[in-house]
Amino acid sequence: MSQSSKAGKKSGKKNIKTRLMHMGSDPDNYHGFVNTPLFRGSTILYPTLDAFLSRSQKYTYGRRGTPTFSALESAITELEGGHHTALTSSGLSACSVSLLAIVKSGGHVLITDSVYQPVRSFSERILKRLGVEVTYYDPHIGSGISDLIQDNTQLIYTESPGSQTFEVQDLPAICEVAKTRDVPVLTDNTWASPLYYNPLKLGADVVIHAGTKYFSGHSDANLGSITTTEAYSKVIRQTHGDLGQCPGPEDVTLCLRGIRTLSVRLERHQESALEMANWLAERPEVSSVIHPAREDHPDHELWKRDFTGSSGLFSILLKVTSDKALGAMLDDLELFGMGASWGGYESLVIPFDVTAYRTATTWKAEGRALRFHIGLEDTDDLKDDLDKGFARLASAG
Ligand SMILES: *Cc1c(COP(=O)(O)O)cnc(C)c1O
Repeated sequence: MSQSSKAGKKSGKKNIKTRLMHMGSDPDNYHGFVNTPLFRGSTILYPTLDAFLSRSQKYTYGRRGTPTFSALESAITELEGGHHTALTSSGLSACSVSLLAIVKSGGHVLITDSVYQPVRSFSERILKRLGVEVTYYDPHIGSGISDLIQDNTQLIYTESPGSQTFEVQDLPAICEVAKTRDVPVLTDNTWASPLYYNPLKLGADVVIHAGTKYFSGHSDANLGSITTTEAYSKVIRQTHGDLGQCPGPEDVTLCLRGIRTLSVRLERHQESALEMANWLAERPEVSSVIHPAREDHPDHELWKRDFTGSSGLFSILLKVTSDKALGAMLDDLELFGMGASWGGYESLVIPFDVTAYRTATTWKAEGRALRFHIGLEDTDDLKDDLDKGFARLASAG
């Protein structure tokens, strides 16, 4: 059976959970081995002068791709329903390559105020140095984005829900306006993954992932991906190449392994995080829970309209304000680690404060904000750990 007919048979109209098992795979080409081998390599040989001069073979230079890269690229392209995927060395480099691919000196970009903070640093330091004007907008702006689009606006950057604070954006409304003004829309889809949110179907042009998070899923890889529609594939591909971007081959393999279990992991992350969020909401120490899948979230209806699920990441506000009490609670947690890069199997908690860098909106938080990532542990054990933490908090406060 030819490669294409077999791939066609396996993609078909089957459920995405089924297709996830085979996306990017090609056992026929690897002696029946289920997984695409980890190709390492810088030098790729050409059989003839003619092949070298025409660069006619599929793989030409290690940095530009290997069969291992191709397997992950095609899997992510299929997951997002895009035309092409480029892999980068980190989630942040996927954000910066996407921005650099589209901006030109003298241009203007619109970035959500709830953006992943290092993207703001990149924009402040690099984009501005290149003569690009940056405007941050209220994540709730929706079709009101129209008023902020200038003649020189080159892109609209979205992230939904927003980092740390979980504002859900009205992506279809933003994309509808953007289309009429011929401005591309970029979306960071790391939180929901393509299993629960499909920005390209909602009108976006470029979708970014920190593959470091749920794709790899085990806190052991750094990788980014940029998936585009056909219209933006050329410019992304070129800039990605010009910047010499490539992930490490082992990280690509770890991501390929990770995506096979994405649906089961996410189902558990979703279920446990909701259970923990609901439990936390009942605690007297907690003033509010910020989770888009809860009915008390201000953007819950929007989330319900556009997303088919939620993940393991949400925030809460604690009534306590002192570092001493918070330290007493967090320092001795047994199961919750204090670390920022989420999406692995383990539970995490970190304090955060976005007030210092928000510019278009004011983040109003009474008390201390904590961001949780709920891992794959048993939820009774997680509650027990937090219960003891709250007891320490009370006696220190
Ligand atoms: C973590 C994260 C990134 C950056 O990913 P790295 O691989 O750590 O560089 C980008 N966007 C979002 C939303 C993230 O959570």
